[in-house]
Amino acid sequence: MFLTQLTFGSAASASLDRDALKDAAESYLASLLKNGQIYGEYLFAWCDGNLVAYTHLPRPDAVAERHHSAWVKKEFDAVVRNFGGPPKWKIIDDDVPKRFPNWKQSASLYLFTHMFDDTSPVCCGESGKPVPLYLLPLGQELREHIYFWGCAYKSHDHIWLNSASLEIPAYKQLADPMSDLSSNGRELCAQVERATGRPTYYFLMRYWGRNIDEAIRCCPDCGGKWQTSKVETDGRPFHQFHFRCRRCRLVSHCANSYEDERHARIGEFKKAK
Ligand SMILES: [Zn+2]
Repeated sequence: MFLTQLTFGSAASASLDRDALKDAAESYLASLLKNGQIYGEYLFAWCDGNLVAYTHLPRPDAVAERHHSAWVKKEFDAVVRNFGGPPKWKIIDDDVPKRFPNWKQSASLYLFTHMFDDTSPVCCGESGKPVPLYLLPLGQELREHIYFWGCAYKSHDHIWLNSASLEIPAYKQLADPMSDLSSNGRELCAQVERATGRPTYYFLMRYWGRNIDEAIRCCPDCGGKWQTSKVETDGRPFHQFHFRCRRCRLVSHCANSYEDERHARIGEFKKAK
């Protein structure tokens, strides 16, 4: 992603104050963010009477009008009215590739994010690279739901990493395939799969594991075999998952920690009683 400066300019009419101008600019950037056309935070400054913002773009042409949803278009029109014209975008990073991968070459996709991730939570199964949401043939509501799911996932990841009193409840949301967070994410995967025609997997976190047979643990949803290789190789790229259940559309890895087996049962298969 590329750091970008956008200059909104000054008021189109003397009746507009700075707060109103900034509100219009902020609503526009928020709509771009939820549509996947910009990534992460945005910052504002007034420079010589002009409103300027800084944010990140997934690709140089990400904010082209042809990528706008109806909701983005409405906010874009408000910016044009308030500032007398569209904002001017200038990429500040000087190392921008000429070509970008086409998601249509992906045979599969998966959903994953984490606390420090500002990119799209939908990733290419072959490369692990994020696919900007605005490029996928999804409705604007589904893009927004995926964006908000990503925010919820990052909040849980943050709470879990802080290791305070909600550490284990947050971890259960991340690691249990039936938790509210996972159920919501898996439903979004199903909708992405219907829209793109690509099998779309949900990544299940696994931190605490068992000293015996971790590498052959069964699928936590159906109880079936789901390991992708018998030999565990450390240092493999994240998107080369140790486990994949095609039936349940789940992927996961072997655990990171084997020091506390009490928590290893979280996210494991439970036989029906
Ligand atoms: Zn399964």
